[in-house]
Amino acid sequence: MKEEAVVVIIKPDGLKKSLTGNILTRLSESKLKIIGAKVIKVSLELAGQHYHHLKEKRFYPELIKYITGKLHGDNRVMVLVYWGKDAIVKVRDLAGATNPEEASPVSIRGAYGRILTTGLFENVVHASSSQEEAEREIKLWFEPEEVVYEVYPTKISGVEQETRKVWK
Ligand code: UDP
Ligand code: MG
Repeated sequence: MKEEAVVVIIKPDGLKKSLTGNILTRLSESKLKIIGAKVIKVSLELAGQHYHHLKEKRFYPELIKYITGKLHGDNRVMVLVYWGKDAIVKVRDLAGATNPEEASPVSIRGAYGRILTTGLFENVVHASSSQEEAEREIKLWFEPEEVVYEVYPTKISGVEQETRKVWK
């Protein structure tokens, strides 16, 4: 398998509970390279685009409240791109199953996640589940200049002296 990228998002519960360091330590067991990282606040628009494929699910409204920080009074997330061989499987193994009760107790979600009384899985991290999803998410969450490898082709956009790299 050749090298690939995967997006990890430490969700608002991870930041609120000061788990960022613990989570990054666990992810470093993968020996993958971090090629992008930032802390940002998640707007309703970005949340809707990120989870657009889950719009019909009954948990969707709660999920949007979760990722935009409404459940925790804290709308920060940390978003990272990891790069390397089998990056998606490696990161998803360390993250654990979607349902924190079913996740291995030594996985990130198993150790730090919980199920809310509403039924929502408050599972601390997001990880892309395919190369297609990773590409869509990198282009949604990052500008080309924010990722140190040129993982996808770019083009120069804008008028002279005001040009910058954008996804093409
Ligand atoms: N989720 C939930 N209940 C479900 C399925 C998903 O609360 O039955 C939430 C959970 O926070 C999960 C997110 O919705 O991480 C996205 O769901 P997905 O199926 O993509 O799971 P993931 O790829 O995050 O493991
Ligand atoms: Mg998913």
